[in-house]
Amino acid sequence: MSDIHIRIEGVAGRITLTRESALNALTYEMCLAIEDALDDWSKNADIRLLILDAVGDKAFCAGGDIAELYASGKRGDYAYGQQFWRDEYRMNAKLFEFPKPVVSFMQGFTMGGGVGFGCHASHRILCDTSQISMPEVGIGLVPDVGGSLVLAQSPGRLGEYLATTGARMSAGDAILAGFADYFIPQDRWPTLSRGLAETGDLALIEAQHETPPSGPIGAQRAEIDRHFDGETLIDIANSLRADPGEFAVKTLKTLSRNAPLSMACAVEIIHRTRGHSDIRRALALEYRFTHRAMEHGDFIEGIRAAIIDKTRDPVWKHTIDTLPAVAVSNMLLPLGKDALTFEKKDKIMQIGFIGLGNMGGPMAANLAAAGHAVTGFDTAGVTIAGVTNAASAATAATGRDVVITMLPNGAILRAVAADILPAMTKGATHIDCSTVDVDSARAVAQDADSMGVLCVDAPVSGGTGGASNGTLTFMAGGSDAAFAKAAPLFDIMGQKAVHCGASGAGQSAKICNNMILGVTMIATCEAFALADKLGLSREKMFDVVSTSSGYSWTMNAYCPAPGVGPQSPADNDYKPGFAAELMLKDLRLSQQAAQSVDADTPMGQNATELYETFVEQEDGTGMDFSAMLPRFEKRSRK
Ligand code: NAD
Repeated sequence: MSDIHIRIEGVAGRITLTRESALNALTYEMCLAIEDALDDWSKNADIRLLILDAVGDKAFCAGGDIAELYASGKRGDYAYGQQFWRDEYRMNAKLFEFPKPVVSFMQGFTMGGGVGFGCHASHRILCDTSQISMPEVGIGLVPDVGGSLVLAQSPGRLGEYLATTGARMSAGDAILAGFADYFIPQDRWPTLSRGLAETGDLALIEAQHETPPSGPIGAQRAEIDRHFDGETLIDIANSLRADPGEFAVKTLKTLSRNAPLSMACAVEIIHRTRGHSDIRRALALEYRFTHRAMEHGDFIEGIRAAIIDKTRDPVWKHTIDTLPAVAVSNMLLPLGKDALTFEKKDKIMQIGFIGLGNMGGPMAANLAAAGHAVTGFDTAGVTIAGVTNAASAATAATGRDVVITMLPNGAILRAVAADILPAMTKGATHIDCSTVDVDSARAVAQDADSMGVLCVDAPVSGGTGGASNGTLTFMAGGSDAAFAKAAPLFDIMGQKAVHCGASGAGQSAKICNNMILGVTMIATCEAFALADKLGLSREKMFDVVSTSSGYSWTMNAYCPAPGVGPQSPADNDYKPGFAAELMLKDLRLSQQAAQSVDADTPMGQNATELYETFVEQEDGTGMDFSAMLPRFEKRSRK
């Protein structure tokens, strides 16, 4: 990855941030890459220590990359941010708990997310350009990434002061506050890091350490401790208001710019964390706030004013004086099932989704609800909750980890694939969930392969109900690597995924399944029509067959008789869940496939002819495929 350089040198695992143009701000991908390296190196006996540093003079790391967080939050997609923070905090905990020495070299700015990367090291080195701060309250967050633990352990009330003002610490102040350990002039860093990588000898650091110039914050310790001693934010504000001195006036002015809810919660988090040394406990408490920050806090407004519009005029939800205590409690309530767990879950993927119809729409919505960043395109201009609309299929596919297509037929799939495959990144994955002919599936897979894109044909079973409820079955064809990439997404959209074989195997399985489905639906409908004429009630018919040897999915789960069995399209005037013309399409595909391999499929052929007549000569177009029942009802034996 171009933003980060991860390698082994001598006895050291080295991570260098190389995103200098963005002051080395951490992207989500960088956090995941750091975590992967930590996982590897903790078990690698050849590595004796870690060295963390960054290129450029201006900043070691100016925080987390908040542009995507803002964009997703603005469109009401809070799951992306929640997963970003969960995954970032897990990385912070792994750094803090790393079982070998970790040395960090922090020049220039180290802010917010940068503290979570550099200040949990065991040997933290600063120089005269170093400036460390936790300025989150200025954008409607709280000091996070485990920073609250460092703040809670700072001497006196420095933690409350630094958290609510976001003040920048010089090297002397940062060492005093517990954010760093050593002061070593920067021109000695290259030799020192080389020596550490060659020998692993930490005494080299001690030998270079100098006493840093004392900082201005340390000089104000007495006033800080006196004013920031209160229980709550309003106590702190009142203490400052009662003091006409320069420090109090200036500090009050700073507090007046920051988000009151964030400052009050930061004070509360520090109070609850003081006396503890467990990073996971601190991160879990911070996460209670960040999980809610977009929906219930000031985060979106804070970013807008500071970063997007740069107007610096945020309209916070509360003022210091009107902030109710219950607002603080509500932000810090336990999260129940959403609590931070530190398990490594699936990473957030950038997904393109093309074809947002009856099936594709709910499938895309489920992926977005699970926290993935989904960009969709449909020629009908459909809008789906949580999914960002793109102007074309190629735009939806550009730069995505995975592109999913859910289209009406093979011809459309081939046309769309010709647009999207050239736009996709090498190594990305195309998953086609449409039901199409085996030849189209194989042709698209071949094109994908020639462009370095992994490809899975993964048609589904389970209908629109399964698409909405995330209970589809996927039948997949493609390489092991492609299936492995797609599997976490199948888990979200479905209950089961079967890897049926090489490219085209998914469509083969689907075609066979749907041939059974078409035949069975016809058998179920003609049996109901016969039962009617024999004077048997439909309820009794259902009661018997659904628990006898004639049972089937079409009877038990998708009963074609209105008012009988579970809800189905029959109860909705046969408006399609699965349209008769789509069934005809699948049956034709089965017969085309049967012909190509010389298989004898008389029932499949008969079912194809019946649906052909129904759709093309009768009133089947636009009806659900179970509308065969009213068709048989009207007819007599010829
Ligand atoms: P649908 O007609 O509701 O959705 C297809 C969508 O694709 C439409 O919204 C259409 O506007 C869009 N589309 C067409 N051409 C496009 C293009 N060039 N670019 C972008 N979008 C385009 O159909 P559906 O019911 O969602 O079925 C989709 C696929 O899933 C079909 O292959 C079908 O056989 C299969 N399938 C459907 C069901 C079901 O119960 N509906 C069940 C299993 C499988």
